[in-house]
Amino acid sequence: MATPVVHDAACIFCKIIKGEIPSFKLVETPLSYSFLDIQPTAEAHALIIPKYHGAKLHNLPDEYLADILPVTKKIAKAIGIDNDGPDGPGYNILQNNGRIAHQVVDHVHFHLIPKNDEKTGLIVGWPSIDTNLDKLGQLHKKLLENLEKGEAA
Ligand code: 5GP
Ligand code: ZN
Repeated sequence: MATPVVHDAACIFCKIIKGEIPSFKLVETPLSYSFLDIQPTAEAHALIIPKYHGAKLHNLPDEYLADILPVTKKIAKAIGIDNDGPDGPGYNILQNNGRIAHQVVDHVHFHLIPKNDEKTGLIVGWPSIDTNLDKLGQLHKKLLENLEKGEAA
């Protein structure tokens, strides 16, 4: 049975999918829609969204998630990323979940942000916690238990 398409009439991205708000569309599939970000942090900053209204990644059915990365790859190639290896133009895929994590629009979206120089595109702040192997081991054990319970559910 096909997964039902879920919309929220008040959601700006649902409106874009339905064509009620105009967008510079890039790739569309039965499950995904992509378009240029209206307030880009770098040229060709694009958004890839599922045609399913869910606020956070874990709210989405897997088939929508599985559709998004191939679309993202297509757009990456279209903006001229074709080099292998670490040098040359790069890009970041960013997906924020929740206000604390800088999410503004509550419809899952993946940012594809070209990174061509230090000044434009994503600038990452990444405070690191000192390594504590005991704590890491305890956490690992707990997560494995939770994963096993999740699989059983
Ligand atoms: P967030 O911070 O939620 O991860 O990012 C939301 C993104 O959506 C922002 O980069 C913002 O510029 C973009 N955005 C918000 N409203 C619109 C819109 O109406 N059209 C387009 N194309 N992008 C939008
Ligand atoms: Zn929506």
